[in-house]
Amino acid sequence: MFDLSGHVAVVTGGNGGIGLGMAEGLARAGADVCIWGRTAERNAAAREQLAAHGTRVLALECDVSDPEAVDAAFDTTVSELGRLDSCFANAGVGSGGVPFVDLTLEEFRRVTSVNLEGAFLTLQGAARRMIAGDGGSLVGIASLAAVEGQPRGQHYAASKGGLVSMIRACAVELARHGIRANAILPGWIDTRMAEGFLHARPVIERVLPRVPVRRWGTPEDFAAAAVYLASPASAYHTGDALIVDGGYRVF
Ligand code: NDP
Repeated sequence: MFDLSGHVAVVTGGNGGIGLGMAEGLARAGADVCIWGRTAERNAAAREQLAAHGTRVLALECDVSDPEAVDAAFDTTVSELGRLDSCFANAGVGSGGVPFVDLTLEEFRRVTSVNLEGAFLTLQGAARRMIAGDGGSLVGIASLAAVEGQPRGQHYAASKGGLVSMIRACAVELARHGIRANAILPGWIDTRMAEGFLHARPVIERVLPRVPVRRWGTPEDFAAAAVYLASPASAYHTGDALIVDGGYRVF
């Protein structure tokens, strides 16, 4: 049920953090994987790590906020790997914790151009190829910020809330093409994006006790969810938002 042999997956922001955790799971389950990221060195290191699973691995330099780069990356993915079955719009940037009244339009656009516009370009590009192919699975990596009030992060929260709404709309419109669409909402995950925050003593003392599982999440915690959403096991599961947060949301 979870065998992904012959399956081709794209993971944007797949050269590190949650994206690499998902790419690892997909490759381990037998999928050919194409990761996209802006940094050549990180792409090369991640490609080597993923190649250990024995499937085909491609790493492309692509800024997801650039429409032409996204189109070219999809063309290369499909011409090199032959098809596209799942796409994880995961590339994202964090916010610096700016008081709302001081938030500039420039900073708002820095975040939304990647987290929302980049996800739009990625999901649309994937949907076009999937409609021309055999359907597939779209996944948007959002955040608990989409459903909770994030102080000093209105731009980040808006980008993630927008992504969840976009995913729901895709689920309804694209089902007739055999395309499913779901979001994943991570909680506190120990990656490059969050490490400065999560390793600070006040956060360890005050926030960690509010995580029932009593640890920060890791990229590996997203491997199984990625495999499930890519695989036929989730054939009847669409339009959903999966929370992967160690229970933080309900505590
Ligand atoms: P990381 O910083 O570890 O990874 C971010 C990834 O995105 C990197 O691979 C980076 O590669 C890539 N990336 C960033 N900007 C672009 C761009 N413009 N074009 C292409 N790739 C880009 O962060 P996480 O793994 O933590 O974050 C992954 C996703 O999960 C993000 O969308 C984030 O918002 C979300 N998330 C994370 C949480 C956490 O606690 N860590 C909580 C909730 C959600 P490169 O720099 O080489 O381009």
